[in-house]
Order: sequence, then C-alpha cells, then structure tokens
Amino acid sequence: MGPSPCGRRPPAFLSILKPTMTLIIEQARIADLFGTFLDHGYIVVRNGLIETVGEGSAPDLPDATRIDAQQLLVTPGLVNAHAHLYSALARGMPLKSFAPSGFLGILESLWWKLDRALDPESIQASAVVGSLAHLRAGVTTLFDHHASPSSIHGSLSQLRKGIEQVGLRADLCYEVTDRGGPEERDAGIEENARFAQEEAGGGQFAAHMGLHASFTLENASLEKAAQTAEPLGLAFHLHLAEGKEDPVHALQQHGVRTAERLDQFGILTEGTLLAHGIHLSQAEVTMLAERGPTVLHNPRSNMNNAVGAAKVERMLTRGVKMALGTDGFGNDIISEALCAQLLAHHVEASPLSLGGDALLAIVQHNYTLAERFFGIPMGRAASGHAADLVVWDYDPPTPLDAGNLLGHLLFASISEGLTPRDVVIGGRQVMQDRVLPHIDERSVLARARSAAQAMWKRV
Ligand SMILES: [Zn+2]
Repeated sequence: MGPSPCGRRPPAFLSILKPTMTLIIEQARIADLFGTFLDHGYIVVRNGLIETVGEGSAPDLPDATRIDAQQLLVTPGLVNAHAHLYSALARGMPLKSFAPSGFLGILESLWWKLDRALDPESIQASAVVGSLAHLRAGVTTLFDHHASPSSIHGSLSQLRKGIEQVGLRADLCYEVTDRGGPEERDAGIEENARFAQEEAGGGQFAAHMGLHASFTLENASLEKAAQTAEPLGLAFHLHLAEGKEDPVHALQQHGVRTAERLDQFGILTEGTLLAHGIHLSQAEVTMLAERGPTVLHNPRSNMNNAVGAAKVERMLTRGVKMALGTDGFGNDIISEALCAQLLAHHVEASPLSLGGDALLAIVQHNYTLAERFFGIPMGRAASGHAADLVVWDYDPPTPLDAGNLLGHLLFASISEGLTPRDVVIGGRQVMQDRVLPHIDERSVLARARSAAQAMWKRV
C-alpha cells in the first residue's frame, strides 16, 4: 500500500467518530474476497478501523453500539473503479433526434449535451442520488470521472458535498478536454489541481488529474496537464481506446497508437487509471504491463455503446493490472463482474474464459486501488483494515466457505437481488435496517427530480 498522494490534510472524515466510540457487528457470517471466512463471528470497530475480528460471541464492551447481523452475510464494502455520477440524472431523459452512427455520435448527441447542461445544483443532486444508488448496491468507495463544461470551477466541490451527504469515500477528477476550447481546458486543469490541494486527503476524498481521452486533447494540452499533475503527485484518470476513433485519431494526427501517444507525456504511470482499453495493439499491451497503470473494464457500458470487448484475459496474462468499473451504466459492481464473465464467455466462445480466479484478481485489484489512493488498508475483514462493512440481506441457501464468496455474490445478485441491510463506512453507520439515518431520502429524491427536470430542458 502506498501513501495517499494528497494526504496533507488532517483526517477529518475519521474524526466523525469520537476516539472512544466503538461499534460491534455480532452474530455475523463474515467473509471477504481474500479468503477470510467465519461462519459465526463478530467485528469490533474503533476509530473508523476494524480492531478485532473473532469467532463466537462478541466481547461485552461498555458504551459500544451493537449491530445484530442475525447470521446474515457481512463483507467489506465494494469499490467501483470508474463511475460518472453526473450521469445519474439521465434516467428517463427524452432524447431528441437520437440516431448516432457510432461511438462519437453517442458522445455528441447525448453525453456532451448532457454534461454541458449541468449546473451546480444538478451536479450536487446527481452526486447525492448517484451515491445513494451505489450505497444500495453495497459500494462504499468509488472513483468518479466528472464533466460539466458550463460549470467547471468548484464542480468537484459540488460533487464532494453530494457524496458527503451519503457518506461514501470518493476519488474525484475533472475531465480535461479541448472540445470546449482553451479556456475550458485550462479551467479543467485548474479544477483538478484546486480539488487535490484543498479538499482531497483525510481518508474520505482522494484525487486524480482527469483527462477525457487522447482524441479530444492536443499535444499542448496533454503537456500542460502533465506539468500541473507532476508537482502535485497526481496520477491520471482517463478513457483509453474506448472507440475506434481514439487509435485512428492518434495514428492519423500523431503517427502513433493511443497508449504510445500518452506515454510520450508520461501519463502511463503506476497510479494512472485507464478506462476501457478495447482497441489496443500487442505492443501497447506490452507497454501497459511494463509501465503499470490499471486498465478499468466496463463491460455493460461497452456492450451498450457497441464499442467492442476488451481482451481482458489476454491483458491479465500479459501482466496488465485490471480493475472493474461501471462507467455510469449502473452502480452495481457485482452485476458488472458477472457481465464481465458472460461477455468473456461470449466473445471468446469459451465457458472457461475469465474464470473465477481471473475475475477474482480483477475485483481484488479494485481494493488495491482504494488502498493506494485513500491510504487505508481495504477489502479484508481483518484488524487494521477500513471499517467499510456491508451486512447483506443474504442468508445463503448453499454452503459458504473461504473460497466461494464471489460465486455466492454473483449468483445471489441475479437470482434474488443482493442488497445491503446495514452499511458502515469508516466506522460510521450510514445505513441502518435499509434506512439512511442521516438524510431524508424522499426529500433528496424529490429535489433530484426537480433538478433533473430543469436540466433536461437545457439539454
Ligand atoms: Zn467513462
């Protein structure tokens, strides 16, 4: 685990808990995706971290808040490595003359109209309802990629305020692009730097330098973003070779393929997040394995946009690090994992493609990313790890053990729906018996509908 690149502020998030406050989850069936399994146990949480995990009855600690799990499944919360919270208000939006002929058409006729219609109110509303949807899918940490070209300055603060209402951890960035001209490009770079310096750190928020994609960025813009990111210790979060437009642009305009072009600007660092990675050459895959960034797989979005399928297993075999994101197409990372496997079976015409171990390695890497950027051990039900814990409304109908949690989650999600009963993030109870005790969810949804209605008129 590496230090947070932006860990210069005090740990404001964890200080939500008083130092003496203790939480106990008891009568629990405890498991994680790294092999921990206790059929009947308890977890003691103190100061936002797991202090003890034990078998049998929980200790009798005075003043502890207790959650009786009633033998339901308790796991660490999930991580979404590529989200677009701003897409949360697109649900049900009427599309005028929507007839895209390809990926670029989808961007131009939908997403680039929607993001330009966002204002501070709709940004914050999208962050609240998007975070809520993540929480209800058991996701406790997300990496967001934001765009709102009519409202760039302060947009990451609006996102943060929305996310804070729900209580998730989030790594934020603003997508720098040349599509709106140099002023918008510079404002995007500045927003990334401002947020990283002023608001990231402390265990709840982290930051990347966001870039849209190679095909909407000139050399001078990549240079400028890289020069701003370097002294701040920021890695990059961008889209790589999602549609064919990206490599075609890089080859025609710059004489190299997409990853090769990004490498010329020092963008392929170990902490960089590259969403999609579909149209890559063998040489680019080798380069990604050598440089060490993470490729973020988003199978449902890829199918929806008809952009092709990333060669996931081949990249893993060649040593490329891979994690899983939703790309704003849903919030449920377990369903995303299942779709990753189904898509691999389909395109490779093999029922063995992206088997359990390969898929597990990808989901585990989501936790590695969270550890690295939030500076806290994540993903294990073990002492010293983040107390980001989900009590799932799930009493397994078949034996659960140290090696089959992923199989249980995947098939519970499609057979009976897998939802949390309780969620703890950083030791704080953000969901109690399916209710969020600190927000009025009905009012939040009503405000979001109102913000969406106003935004839709501007699209
Ligand atoms: Zn994306």
